[in-house]
Amino acid sequence: MRQLQWPADTDQPADTDQPAGAAETVDALLAGRLAQALDRPAPQQPVWPDPDRAREVGALLRRAAPIVTAAETARLRRELAAVAGGQAFLLQGGDCAESFAENTEAHRRANLRTLTGMADVLTRRTAVPVVKVARMAGQYAKPRSRAVDAQGLPAYRGDMVNSAEPTRAARTPDPDRMLRAHAAAVDTMALIRRLGRGGGPEARAAAGGDIYVSHEALLLDYEQCSLRTDLGGPEPRLSSGLGHFLWIGERTRRLDGAHIAFARLLSNPIGLKLGPDTTPEEAVTYVRRLDPHAEPGRLTLISRMGHTRVREVLPPIVEKVTASGHQVVWSCDPMHGNTYTSANGYKTRHWSAMADEITGFFDVHRALGTHPGGVHLEVTGDHVTECVGGTGGPAEAELPARYRTACDPRLNAEQARELAHVVAELAAR
Ligand code: PEP
Ligand code: MN
Repeated sequence: MRQLQWPADTDQPADTDQPAGAAETVDALLAGRLAQALDRPAPQQPVWPDPDRAREVGALLRRAAPIVTAAETARLRRELAAVAGGQAFLLQGGDCAESFAENTEAHRRANLRTLTGMADVLTRRTAVPVVKVARMAGQYAKPRSRAVDAQGLPAYRGDMVNSAEPTRAARTPDPDRMLRAHAAAVDTMALIRRLGRGGGPEARAAAGGDIYVSHEALLLDYEQCSLRTDLGGPEPRLSSGLGHFLWIGERTRRLDGAHIAFARLLSNPIGLKLGPDTTPEEAVTYVRRLDPHAEPGRLTLISRMGHTRVREVLPPIVEKVTASGHQVVWSCDPMHGNTYTSANGYKTRHWSAMADEITGFFDVHRALGTHPGGVHLEVTGDHVTECVGGTGGPAEAELPARYRTACDPRLNAEQARELAHVVAELAAR
């Protein structure tokens, strides 16, 4: 597969006397579409204090080898088609935000072990293959609800952009962080491959198969850097080498925006987060836009409605999308619609609210005859106290003991395992 040639990478102007070859024509077509997509309004992007350096970093990253291979991504595409068809289940999870400091081998192994352990619980109970997708190897950029924090400092936007440390200098966006994030992602992918080959318990699953990696395609200066022309699908598209699966978040999914237009161009399977304000008409518009060739499993709709809303807002969305004839993967993120601040001031989530949203999600799909295809979780193998509840889980007063997250509160391994049993029971019904 060819690295997409960027106009900015070519020193020579196009030689108009020479007829362009077919490959160059496709590259030029895609480069043009990409430029148009990126020209659209893009929320949640940092303002780099040194735009020249940001461009240099982009040029460096465009020359880097891909982190994932197009063949792996194609395999995930086939597995997600099976999920969309009701023959498999998608388990996606990991840190809300990866961080350079927390990116130790022990941490990454623990997260992978937790994901694999949850998959084992599911496979044992349901005998259905579980597709494991980690939020890992690139989950370094975060959307924020406010541009400044409570102290008036620029908000932390993920380690790929700035530092969480509360000083003005540390919060100033630094494009060199994109290089560091990319290197860390390369390293993480190498770890996953090593564990897979060695048959380590972290990468093994009862159903066999490998762990794929995913992140939110948020920071467009990073996302545009590892694109290759892919002629294997219904139209020429771009394969991102930055992750197997990329998703667009709730805060950047404006229909006329750059993120949706960018995702439309990719051949990677893509996800879209949908919050409780999404109308059924909007959902169908997204589906037609992002899955124009009606490929089963190309698009994963990740609902994050909150446990009090899911039973009311999800059914008309599922009905309308199903009637459109597109076969999407339906996944439930029970985390982001259930966040609240505890009495002692911690951003947290209650285990029972998550279990209830997942139950509602299954109830909705069972009633409509559609496949509740997966769950999307923020979870770590580290012994943190960030979410409350679950048998033996922390109460609000115990949150300060090991509250470590760089962004949103994660389930710890015990809470995750207990939730996996809930999912397994529902899936086995
Ligand atoms: C996330 O997954 O960390 C996230 C920000 O989710 P959402 O886009 O659903 O708010
Ligand atoms: Mn999050």
